[in-house]
Amino acid sequence: MFDGVGFIGLGKMGSPIAMRVLKKTGELRVFDVRKAATEQCASLGAQLADSVTALASQCELIFISLPTPEIVRNVAIGEGGIVSGNKVRMLVDLSTTGPRTSVQIHEVLKQRGIELIDAPVSGGVAGAMNGTLAVMVAGSSQNVERLRELLAVIGRIFHVGTKPGLGQTMKLCNNLLSASVLAVSSEALVMGVKAGLEPKMMLDVINAGSGRNSATQDKFPRSILPRRFDFGFSTGLMYKDVRLCLEEAEFLGVQMWVAPAVRQLWLQACLELGEHSDFTAIVKCVERLANVQVGAVG
Ligand code: NAD
Repeated sequence: MFDGVGFIGLGKMGSPIAMRVLKKTGELRVFDVRKAATEQCASLGAQLADSVTALASQCELIFISLPTPEIVRNVAIGEGGIVSGNKVRMLVDLSTTGPRTSVQIHEVLKQRGIELIDAPVSGGVAGAMNGTLAVMVAGSSQNVERLRELLAVIGRIFHVGTKPGLGQTMKLCNNLLSASVLAVSSEALVMGVKAGLEPKMMLDVINAGSGRNSATQDKFPRSILPRRFDFGFSTGLMYKDVRLCLEEAEFLGVQMWVAPAVRQLWLQACLELGEHSDFTAIVKCVERLANVQVGAVG
């Protein structure tokens, strides 16, 4: 299928996705700046690469799952990046970076005969573990067909377009909604609890009614009400996605009114809780000002 497959970025998403790819291909070379992450993958059968360039000189196909556009740009086209490898022919970017980063990387890699496929994902750590992510792929039909068998182990493939960056645009639209409903559901739940409503009952009503959304159906019951705050996505990355979405809207000349308020609350959450906090902890910012807690005490 491909002469060597590699994976860079073995974090909350990358690690379980890489393990599913390894199961399919039987062989996978991995790299991450965190030694603990690579060692864990090695213990499950992956081979370690010494550097990004080494990996790109050993693998025809590389997946990346990295945190920010800056890091993705560096790893892909920076000094010692994938672009310096002499075997790589295709790069599949599973990270959320925004369309303009994708286009920029695409332009540089194209000159070296390397194809970039943007394929950001949605569905969280649980989706990554179970292979049930929504995979938003942009690339030529020929390339998508070549990747289909491998991408199918990650989740459901949506070929959203051929233009580089369209997968990223799709992902930003999705995450604006995800960020917004978590923020505004936090406000609604805090208000109800302050007035004396029981939060579990509130969720039951909302989820049987017109207010139901991914936060009330999944995040509140699983991570917020039990006060576990362990959903597996960081506050900093959620803020990044809303910021990227607004930058893109401005670039496209699309006015947004609600999204800037959502961005503001996510920025506040980053400042108050730290960018590495779990994003479900955003409810704490609303709780603190209202002096009330949603869910179990402690
Ligand atoms: P994470 O921070 O858990 O993982 C990122 C990994 O990249 C880490 O292991 C880190 O050590 C590694 N890394 C950083 N710089 C590196 C470099 N220069 N070279 C090699 N490795 C490097 O992040 P995550 O939650 O797994 O998210 C990864 C991407 O997927 C992000 O773009 C995020 O927006 C997106 N995403 C995350 C989720 C989620 O629920 N966590 C869902 C959908 C999409």
